[in-house]
Amino acid sequence: MKYNDKIDQSQPIHGISYCTRCCVPQTMEGVNFDEMGICTACRSSEEKMHIDWKAREEQLRKILNDAKESSGTNYDCILPISGGKDSFFQAHVLVNVYGMKPLAVTFSHNWFSETGFYNLQRCLEVFNLDHLQFTPARGLVNKLARKSLGAIGDACWHCHSGVGSFPLQVATKFKIPLLVWGESIAESAGRASYSNPVHKFDRDYFNKVSAKLTAEEMVGGDVSAKDMHPFGLPSYKEIDDTGVWGIHLGDYIFWDDERQTEWIKKEYGWRETEMEGAYKGYKSAECIMPGVHDFTCYLKRGFGRSTWQASLDVRNGLLTREEGFELVKKHDQERPEALDYYLNITGYTEEEFFKIIGDKKLSELKDIDLPMHKKEQPNAERTIPFVQQLIQKHLNAPDPRVKRDAEAKSNL
Ligand SMILES: [Zn+2]
Repeated sequence: MKYNDKIDQSQPIHGISYCTRCCVPQTMEGVNFDEMGICTACRSSEEKMHIDWKAREEQLRKILNDAKESSGTNYDCILPISGGKDSFFQAHVLVNVYGMKPLAVTFSHNWFSETGFYNLQRCLEVFNLDHLQFTPARGLVNKLARKSLGAIGDACWHCHSGVGSFPLQVATKFKIPLLVWGESIAESAGRASYSNPVHKFDRDYFNKVSAKLTAEEMVGGDVSAKDMHPFGLPSYKEIDDTGVWGIHLGDYIFWDDERQTEWIKKEYGWRETEMEGAYKGYKSAECIMPGVHDFTCYLKRGFGRSTWQASLDVRNGLLTREEGFELVKKHDQERPEALDYYLNITGYTEEEFFKIIGDKKLSELKDIDLPMHKKEQPNAERTIPFVQQLIQKHLNAPDPRVKRDAEAKSNL
């Protein structure tokens, strides 16, 4: 019997193994357990404690200085931002610590929450950033959200793909070689390690890891090659000609989500909100749909966002493993309110949604009934895109002059 085969009643799902240290299940993509039953991410976090962060910081300073020296009158680097907590921290480090002049670049999923919309605008204002944003049309987003579910098993292909391709398109078109991302992938995905950060630039990284299908592979049915144009990647030659490459700040700076979040809230006015399926208010706060994304992960793999969050908290000594499991049961297993919006824009019935995702369930979970429950109260923030809320608000509102004149009259 291996370490993780012991029966543990506190586990959220019975019949699968969990890391003996945190809350990571065997069904997480790319995860491996060592002979002690400890997962890759727990091992990476130990590694993180033994890294010479001072030496790493010097490497970062050199990279950024070199970029500044060779950029001439152009931007020093590209800063891909969503308005999330990492965006603020990246902007702080680049602009206020190292004196860089980045070009901020946003691929909009067109699902901005009200808080997320505020955060992005606040980020641009507070760090004084030039900004380029691409927003796919509502009809295209809806069409891709429908196709995405059956194609890759979540609703978000357009976002996975766009956040990879748009910054690269801007890098090659504007001849800005360096891209600066936030969190290290060693921690966020357990796919790399700190001792071996992926320095080699991989044009197809986002396709392989999150989008799964290329823009060409998404063509078919009511999705045309013309629809897919904004999602295409630059050619290898274009990337070579510009010398595009990228770094993750988390490979050079000790990354601490909790402390960074507290700090950017206080220092720069970043705001959290209620996140469906999560017990923290800061992950993907820019979007109304993460609850649906994480719920599809739960239905396929038996875990959602709270498993990530609890695992991190357990590793950092903020929760016991059992407390983590309790939070996981409460939040991962909750049907998100944003599912109503998703069904509305895609035309799927709830039964169709569960059928499509059910077919993608991992084989080791096939015989397991995944527990599920309804939300106890409505979401604190409306789960329709903020721009649509804004349009609805103004569409039938009286002309502001009429309102003013009426008020003036009533004050007489
Ligand atoms: Zn672990």
